[in-house]
Amino acid sequence: MKLKLIAVCLFLVLGASCAEAPEPKADNLNEAEVDAQEIETPVAVVNVPVIEALTDQNPRFDAFKENFLNRTWKLDPSFAVYVGFYQYDDILVVPNGEHRALQREFYVTELQALKQFDANQLNASNATDLAIIEGRLRAQIWYIDVYRAYEWNPAQYNPAGAFGVILNTDYKPLSERLQTISRRLESVPEYYQAAINNLKTPTLEHLSLAIQQSSGALKMFENLIPDKIQGSELEAPVAEQLAVGLDEAATAVKSYIVWLEAKQAELQQSGNARNFRIGAELYEKKFKHDIESNYTGKELYNLALSAKDKLHAEMISISEEIWPKYFQDQPIPDDRLAAVKQLIEHLSQKHVERDQFVDEIRRQMPIIQKFMDDNKLLDSDPTRPLVVRLTPEYQRGFAGASVNAPGPYDATANTYYNVSPLDDYSDQQAESYLREYNHWILQILNIHEAIPGHYTQLMHANKSPSKIKSIFANGAMVEGWAVYSERMMLESGYGDNEPEMWLMYSKWNLRVVVNTILDYSIQVLGMEREAALDLLMNQAFQERTEAEGKWRRATVSQVQLTSYFSGYSEIYAFREELKQKMGDRFDLRTFHNKFLSYGNAPVAVIRNSMLAELELAKPQ
Ligand code: ZN
Ligand code: ZN
Repeated sequence: MKLKLIAVCLFLVLGASCAEAPEPKADNLNEAEVDAQEIETPVAVVNVPVIEALTDQNPRFDAFKENFLNRTWKLDPSFAVYVGFYQYDDILVVPNGEHRALQREFYVTELQALKQFDANQLNASNATDLAIIEGRLRAQIWYIDVYRAYEWNPAQYNPAGAFGVILNTDYKPLSERLQTISRRLESVPEYYQAAINNLKTPTLEHLSLAIQQSSGALKMFENLIPDKIQGSELEAPVAEQLAVGLDEAATAVKSYIVWLEAKQAELQQSGNARNFRIGAELYEKKFKHDIESNYTGKELYNLALSAKDKLHAEMISISEEIWPKYFQDQPIPDDRLAAVKQLIEHLSQKHVERDQFVDEIRRQMPIIQKFMDDNKLLDSDPTRPLVVRLTPEYQRGFAGASVNAPGPYDATANTYYNVSPLDDYSDQQAESYLREYNHWILQILNIHEAIPGHYTQLMHANKSPSKIKSIFANGAMVEGWAVYSERMMLESGYGDNEPEMWLMYSKWNLRVVVNTILDYSIQVLGMEREAALDLLMNQAFQERTEAEGKWRRATVSQVQLTSYFSGYSEIYAFREELKQKMGDRFDLRTFHNKFLSYGNAPVAVIRNSMLAELELAKPQ
């Protein structure tokens, strides 16, 4: 449940709103010091523990991690609220230069402190935690010093999300949560003033996003919080104070919107807005910090180009094979991609009725689980079952399905597979949704979200619980695993190698491949809107509304769209590499169990650990 931050950011196809926390800036920056931090150095190579180490560094490192987290929560109480740590829930940090300087100092100090630990003297879980903390600290310093989104992305200033978590999470009585909210509200006017002070030259794309999202923030202060006061037992003076705070907060949001609109008009006129495309140099650095891959952004882009060609070739060959089965009297069109598109549209008619959607997901879960068990693909844990439930009301509105895993501070809670009934949809919307999640794709979605995708992965990760890996989860690993698990299931015979299943899978997989191509093409190669829509609609078989939404998202986010494909490619390539290396000794189930035992660490870090261990295990 508390993994909401991760759940929302990674498991749904969402926009940039949760892409990154406000990025601080240091005014008293020491250039030499930055160089000395070797921000460019890749994450530490992780080796297996040396059992006879002279000093056991593990207890000391455990203590370090706890302190590191506590200091992190103090500096970023909103982030803390998202992961379920509520000690500082009444503090809203004002994102001004002073605070950025504090944050930067913290990152530099912690990075320095990490040097007392040697990955070789830590157990595998701690060694990977060390690599994760180090990678994060380097990234944060880079975001402050170089990326500087706080100067050009007005959409990152939005305090509403954490207010929403406090309002909707039942961690203490409502009346107490409302008093917490009241204290937090005091800083909202200053918060927006700091935003205005920070912003120099925004992009037009982020300006419109900020205007749109700030109306959402306004709704929080004008409607959502006031609605809850009615049902609470607040005493009159407290309720009055809250009302005043809400009023002042709403005024602050409104003036921010006015300021944004004025800025928008000014920049539209002068033509001096910042280009939303970040360019090759920033892209490669951001890719390295966010994905922590062994590939560069450009290498991944090239991989995606060949993956697209390969998928097209497979889809064309399947279509040629089964075309006569569905269109007896029609010759297959010469434009083979058009033929593929026509066949996919035809097959999409096979789907459940709207009132059966939730039941069908419930029905499939044990079947998929049994396939995984019977084929010995990976271990499962019957003591931690997945609970399929209707999505709670306040979380509805985005995707039809998502997984809520227990958070780091509540690790034994249930894992929920949230499914939204299609009640809010018009007939037309429901039909379009059901065609998208048709007979075949719905099964692939269940594999991705649940078994052996997100649910199974997180269940394995929780066997050696690490707050660090849970909080700073590597998105490419988590999403990459879910995408990998789809193909792995089909390769193992799930769906009986039915050509229709492979065709639909290819369309589904094409989406993550094309996201990578799109992201790099737009951010680095200057791809224009029409070319992007052509790529999405004619080469990835997407509907116009989906394609237009994707274009918008790709103009306001950077790199995040590549995380699914990068994690998937790296896991797949690593598996093939190990098969080669191990020959007859390779066992798929052992590989999966071992791989997942490292938790949500970057694939490159897991690979290093596993290869080192294999090296040690080699018969001399
Ligand atoms: Zn996912
Ligand atoms: Zn239909």
